[in-house]
Parts: sequence; structure tokens; C-alpha cells
Amino acid sequence: MDRERLIPHQTVVVKDGRVTGLGPKRSIHIPRGAQRIAGRGKFLMPGLADMHVHLNIRGPAGNITNDQFATLFIANGVTTVRNMWGSPEILALRRSIEQDKVISPRIYTTGPLTDGKPPIRPSSRVVETVSQAIDAVTSDKRTGYDAIKVYNRLSPEVYQAIVSTARTLGLPVYGHVPDRVGIEGVLAAHQESIEHVEGYLEALDRGASPGKVEELVAATRRAGTWNCVTLVFFQGAVPADTASRLLSKPSMRFVPPALRAGWKNNRQLASLTAYQFSRLRLYDEKRREFVRALHRGGAKILLGTDTPNQFIVPGSAVHEELRNLVEVGFTPYEAIRAATKCAAEFLKSQDQWGTVAVGLRADLILVTANPLEDVGNVSRRAGVMVDGRWLPEDELQAGLERLAASYEHDTDTR
Ligand SMILES: [Zn+2]
Repeated sequence: MDRERLIPHQTVVVKDGRVTGLGPKRSIHIPRGAQRIAGRGKFLMPGLADMHVHLNIRGPAGNITNDQFATLFIANGVTTVRNMWGSPEILALRRSIEQDKVISPRIYTTGPLTDGKPPIRPSSRVVETVSQAIDAVTSDKRTGYDAIKVYNRLSPEVYQAIVSTARTLGLPVYGHVPDRVGIEGVLAAHQESIEHVEGYLEALDRGASPGKVEELVAATRRAGTWNCVTLVFFQGAVPADTASRLLSKPSMRFVPPALRAGWKNNRQLASLTAYQFSRLRLYDEKRREFVRALHRGGAKILLGTDTPNQFIVPGSAVHEELRNLVEVGFTPYEAIRAATKCAAEFLKSQDQWGTVAVGLRADLILVTANPLEDVGNVSRRAGVMVDGRWLPEDELQAGLERLAASYEHDTDTR
């Protein structure tokens, strides 16, 4: 994934969770007693990163546990996640993963969701003054979060204080585009990532002069801001009849029943009229066209899903999003790169993971067909390696079946 190429007939040696050798068979020393995995006719690629997820921030309570998340992610080749609402529980989970106590994707996490008043989501951290803003950023840095997450109702003054404090402390700013700051303000502040393509369509609605799209794309590129576009998230905002079709997808079997029920009974969606749904679809189309323009114009894109929001099945949604990116003009290589090398580059971890190379983490997927020819081939797994641990496909499938079986019991008691 460093550039678009296949390197044929390679032997890869993994030791202590790292790739320690890579080259033509004859040039590679295979240590005595090594476990051998036959790769003939197969394709080795880096593990995938879902750059927008919401792990369970309160431990065992909730619709899906972090164990269930981990099983679903790993079985789909997702070896890294960026968690967009943090808590001390998530930091504790990260420590247990690092100590090899849990098999799970590697976690990067923001602090708590930071919003103005009244907050959109009830349990947000509300920040109304400059001194509260400084405290919030300082606290996130001290607690060990990787970034601060900003949200829609922050005032311009508070947003600026968050950004400047974060710069001083070396903490990136990820998140939404505050309504009163707008896309221009967020780009001027060089916010590190924008989620869900927020702010752009609003700016176009305000004044869609000819050339405005190209202007916004160029401003994004100049700002160095990444967009985590989450197209699959918008595909979940559907009326009841489409919802029941989505709920009959094969991957739904592995979703905890409580989570499925939550998706099915989404009150917000149930309250929308046919007209409102038609407006949503119109904006989906505009958003996809804008992502096409962003990509064509050389702005930087990350792949994220926003799981476990409605109908976004952890892990398999990453494969849906790969296809979405191809639909809006990415080559298969570019789509996969958004979920591997670009993700690592964004997180300043390209010397740790994101490509298949000596010295990097052995987070890998072995597939049975060339993913550069068809992005759907990323799903044709022979197995996944996480942190140097090899999990063949039959083991991954058995893990999923165990999950499904555990739910049968669940349903009976609910
Ligand atoms: Zn989210």
C-alpha cells in the first residue's frame, strides 16, 4: 500500500507482533519452528482501520459490549479503530489490549464529546466559556486521550479557545463543524479532521456560486484537513420498509438483539415524513458528489462508518464503505489506502502500521483474490493476523457463530 503495486512471490516473517522479514523466498531466513502459513496464490494486505466508531464507553452496560465489537471487527479484518467519544473505560480497555489481555483492534480515542449549550446529546461535556475550554483541553491531554472532539453547538469564541489550547498542548482537534463557526472557520483553524462531510453542503446552500465547490475543495487541501466521510452512516437514515430490508441482511445475525431492536425502533427516524426522507436522499446525492470532488481535487479522505449507529454493522460496514468510495470515483487501491496507509498517516503512526513492511506491526489480512482489481475481494479472507496472532478464516467464522448462538439465549430472556 505504499503505492499501487503487487509484489509477487514474497515470504513474510513475523516475530513478536512485528514483520521482521519480507522478500523473495530465497533471500529470507525462516526461523526454525516457525508456524507456516501458505500464501501461494493469495494476497497479503494491511489490516483495515475504521476511523469513526463509538465503542461502548460505559463498560458492560449498553446494546453492544466491547468484546462483541472486537469479535466483529477482527472477523472483518479491522485491526485499528478511531473511537470518537472517549471515557476512562476506553483508556482501560486500550491498556488491556496493549498488555495482550484482550484480542481487539488497536484503539485511538478522543476525549468526551464537547458541545455548547444546549448540547445536542444529553451526556456531552458542555463548554460555554474560554476558561472552561482551556480546562477541557488540558484535562483531555492529561487523561491520555489522543484528541479533543468538537461538536455543533460550540460558540465561535469557545471553539477558537479549544483550537489554540489544543495546538499549544499538541492535541489534535477532530469532529463536527460547529454551526456558528462554519466550514470556512473550521478550515481556517486547520481542524485535523471533519466528520460526515459536515459544513460543506450548508456553505453551498448559502451561496452556490459557480466554482464554489472547487473553492471549498482547494481550501480543504490548503488547510491540510482530512475528511472522514462516513457515507455508510447516511445510508442508514431510511424509512421503516427499507429498514426491514436492511435488518434482513446476513450480517445482522451477528448483531446483538438489543442493538438491532434499537435500530428498528429508532424514534427519530420514525417521526420523519416521506418528504423529509426525499430531502435526505437529495442531500445524500449532493454529499456523494462533493466527496467525488474532494477526492478528485486531492483533498485527504479517511474511511469511517460511525458504527454502531443505525444499521451500521461493526466490521462489515467497513467493506460497504470501501464499495461506497469506489462508487464515488476512488480506484480500489485508493479506497483501501484510505483505510490503511492514510489512516496511519493521519494518526502519525505510519512507522507503526498501515502498510506491509519490515518493522511494522503484523496487523494483516490474507485474501484469496486481488483486492486491487475489485475492492470486494478485501472480503474474501483466508485469515487475519492481529498483532502477530494468526486467525484463520474458519476460526473467525466460528467466533461469529458463537456470538450468534449467545444471542439466541439472549432473545429468550428479553
Ligand atoms: Zn460518530
